[in-house]
Amino acid sequence: MKIKVVKFGGSSLASGAGFLRVKNIIEADESRRFVVVSAPGRRYKDDEKVTDLLLASKNDKDAFQRAAERFRGIAAELDAFGMQQILAGEMDKIYKEYDLNPTEAYLASRGEYLNAFIMAALLKRTFIDAATIVRFGADGAPDNAKTKELIREALSGCERAVIPGFYGSNHLGEIRTFSRGGSDITGSLVAAALNADLYENWTDVSGVYEKDPRLHENPRRYRYIAYSDMRNLAEAGMTVLHPEALNPAEESRIPIRVKNSFRPNEEGTLISNGEYEELV
Ligand code: ASP
Repeated sequence: MKIKVVKFGGSSLASGAGFLRVKNIIEADESRRFVVVSAPGRRYKDDEKVTDLLLASKNDKDAFQRAAERFRGIAAELDAFGMQQILAGEMDKIYKEYDLNPTEAYLASRGEYLNAFIMAALLKRTFIDAATIVRFGADGAPDNAKTKELIREALSGCERAVIPGFYGSNHLGEIRTFSRGGSDITGSLVAAALNADLYENWTDVSGVYEKDPRLHENPRRYRYIAYSDMRNLAEAGMTVLHPEALNPAEESRIPIRVKNSFRPNEEGTLISNGEYEELV
C-alpha cells in the first residue's frame, strides 16, 4: 500500500469542527497513514494561536489558562467521541508539570502534543510522542540523521499513527522545538524516513501562489514548482511552507503537495524536482 504522510497546520485544527473536517480528509484516502499535526491556530482574525499563549505562559498563568481553555473547548465540541474524558488525564499531567516550573520549550510543545493526542483518539490510531522520535543534538540543532533512524524504528511495524509536529528531545530527554512553523519539518522528516510516496502539507490556502492569496486578490497559483524555486519563495518570506521542510523531502525525492483543508477538492501545488512549472 502506498504511504502518504499528511501534515495539518494550526488553522486546520483550531476547533472541534476543524478536527472533524480533517478526520474526513484523512479517512477519504487509506494511504494517508501517518498524520502530523500543529497546535490549534486562529479561529478568526484577532484570535490567539495556542503556541503564542504557551510561549507566554512561562511567566503568565493567565495565558496558560487561556491555552487550556482552547483545549477544553475542542474536547467539548468533540464530546460525542468521549473526548472530555479522554483528555482529562493528559490535561491534569500538564497542570501538575506547570506548577513545577517547566522549560519554555516544554510548554510550547504541549499544543502539538495535545492536538496529536486528540487526533489519535478521534481516528483511533496510535499516538507516537515526537519526543521519542525527533532528536536534537547537545548544541540544540536538529539531528536529522538520528531522527530518521528513530522514526524508521518506531514506525516500521506500525500501519497508521498520529505524531505531534514542532518538537522533539535531546539525548537527555529534554524537550526541544524547531523554529516557528516547524511542524512542516517534522512532516518532511517522517516522509523522508519512511520513503513515502507523497508528503501532503494541508493548510488554509489552496497551494503556492505568486503572492499571498490572503493579502492579494486573485494571484496566480503554481500547479507545479521546483524545490529550488520553492526554497527561494520560502526564504523570501512566503509562509506557506517552512524553508527547512524542503531538504528532507528533496533529498529522498519525495514530492510535496500543498493543499487547503477547507477546500480539499482543489488540486493545490505539487513541489517536486522541477520537471514542470506552470502558473494558473
Ligand atoms: N505551532 C507552532 C507555531 O505556531 C508550530 C507549527 O505550527 O508548525 O509555530
